[in-house]
Amino acid sequence: MDVKDLVVFRKTSLVDYPGKVAAALFFRGCNLRCPWCQNRELALASDTPDQTFISPDEALRHIEKRRAVLGGMVLSGGEPTLYHELPALIARIKALGLLVKLDTNGMAPHVLETLFGQRETTPDYIALDLKLAPVRYAVLGAKNPTARLKESAALIHAAGVDHEFRSLALPHGFFTDNDVEALAPLVDDAPWFFRLFQPGNCLDPTWDEFPAAQKEDGARLAQKAGQLGKRVGGEAT
Ligand code: SF4
Repeated sequence: MDVKDLVVFRKTSLVDYPGKVAAALFFRGCNLRCPWCQNRELALASDTPDQTFISPDEALRHIEKRRAVLGGMVLSGGEPTLYHELPALIARIKALGLLVKLDTNGMAPHVLETLFGQRETTPDYIALDLKLAPVRYAVLGAKNPTARLKESAALIHAAGVDHEFRSLALPHGFFTDNDVEALAPLVDDAPWFFRLFQPGNCLDPTWDEFPAAQKEDGARLAQKAGQLGKRVGGEAT
């Protein structure tokens, strides 16, 4: 079994799918290396005694038993678009009568295009992460990020799928008004959420030494997005 065919399964989540009781699958492996990432083991696909990895098939068996109490299923990571059987998995979950939310960093627009190609593989909700101004994605190890992000955002918009944008307020002004400005053209009328960085188990341990981002940091970025005519999603948390 390929290492990316293993997931962490969360049986119930009240926070991962807006307005739904959902279960969540977190896929191993990622095509970015955000130093502040707190899904360290997932991003690196490394072994950890704290997490139980199971196969997507096994997770689906659990989901099938619990579908009466679930409203949706969240596919997150790591980066779920790296999982080559993602279209089939989405179709299987939707066939159980569950809605599917996909969390993605937008680095694989060709996968989104494939998913949107058929109704049964189209997610019902997408959260697209916007991490830094596209030209700064090189520090995350991204290749050709500007074109990829632009294409992903355009595909999501054209598909007419419910969606949101998510950014993280980072300490020491690492994510600034300039980043908001550079990302703004990718953001349509869907909500843009600004969450707050917290240190702890970061992919780059030096980030664990940084202070948590403050509410004012998130509010300032949200204000900038608002000034640019964007719809800011709720309070920064
Ligand atoms: S924060 Fe997300 S995109 Fe960045 S390394 Fe972690 S899992 Fe990958």
